Amino acid sequence: MRRRHPWVLSGAVDRVEGTSEPGALARVSSSDGESLGFGHWSPASSLRVRMLSFGKEPLEEAAFIDAAIGRAIGRRTPDLCGETDGVRLINAEGDGLPGLVVDRYGDALVVRLTTAGMDRARPWLVDALRERTGASAALERADASAARREGFAPRDGLWWGEVAERVVLRERSREYLVDLVSGQKTGFYLDQRAARDRVQALAEGRRVLDLFCYSGGFSVAAARGGAAKVVAVDRSEPALRLARENIERNGLGSVPSVFQADAFEFARSCEDPFDLIVIDPPPLARHKRDVSKATRAYKDVFMSAFRRASSDAYVLCFGCSHHVGPDLFRKVVFGASLDAGRRLQVLEEFGAGPDHPVSIDHPEGRYLTGLLLRMESGG
Ligand code: SAH
Repeated sequence: MRRRHPWVLSGAVDRVEGTSEPGALARVSSSDGESLGFGHWSPASSLRVRMLSFGKEPLEEAAFIDAAIGRAIGRRTPDLCGETDGVRLINAEGDGLPGLVVDRYGDALVVRLTTAGMDRARPWLVDALRERTGASAALERADASAARREGFAPRDGLWWGEVAERVVLRERSREYLVDLVSGQKTGFYLDQRAARDRVQALAEGRRVLDLFCYSGGFSVAAARGGAAKVVAVDRSEPALRLARENIERNGLGSVPSVFQADAFEFARSCEDPFDLIVIDPPPLARHKRDVSKATRAYKDVFMSAFRRASSDAYVLCFGCSHHVGPDLFRKVVFGASLDAGRRLQVLEEFGAGPDHPVSIDHPEGRYLTGLLLRMESGG
């Protein structure tokens, strides 16, 4: 607490005084009675309190939330992410608001609430977001597993206005249809913006493989950048339908081909060479106990991809499990390169962009690690 870490774990709680509803504001005190701050109480969760303030004075929650939302929005200046109309407005702990994620797609907001505290704060969130963003619509997308962990009922639904099922996101020279209502997460992976730019810049004349392509974020970037060929793979049919539409929409119909397949299996069995490979798997370790299984899965698909890489090929490997941190991730990539018998250089590292700030007090907020690699030609 004294180092401003925003989580109080269940094992750190000696006793609870009084009763409060899940999600209510709780005061946290040290064992000798010193007041350490205030946060959202969550009795069903192993994270018992998410701190909002480390002050000694009780806070007025609605005003606090409103001010924090105002601050977060004020920091999303137009120069922060460059030319795009898709921006993360509020990034949970990174913006001092644990449990609240808000993405803006054009004129519409998509909101995800992942703590009992934010579930309870919903009416204040509606007011503050409406007032401070001027957005024409806001849609809540349930995170069912978070709701289960936290013991509240997951909700999907409109907060105000109307949203088209699909909106068009314009990012640099790329356009993406985003399915706000039933797409993954809030509809699109805004956190991969910088990597999409990099892929577009490197793609000219290259044969590109996009594993775990979802709605074609990287495939569209590669084709836009002049790729000679793009092969996009995902196992989800709705994702691939969007990917096909996105490719068409950008006038790139002749370059990419889209395959519904298991990407691990596809990488293993495919024999074509590629000069630029993107591997962006889903979170493979949702819990600490899954880490060794996840590292094996990462290594397996990276190794298969390295074997498909031509000499001097670029390979972009991503991991988005916060239990597999950047050091372990590098080791996994190293192991895969040894097993594939390929040497490689690390050219660049990627994380989520500047609209996904991570508080220095809360290292767990960093979840996305990406490495841009170049295969050495000598084998
Ligand atoms: N690269 C994408 C995001 C990928 S999210 C982008 O930038 O938009 C992870 C994707 O992996 C999801 O679309 C999910 O459908 C897909 N997926 C999960 N397991 C898979 C598997 N075993 N084989 C193929 N695709 C899989």
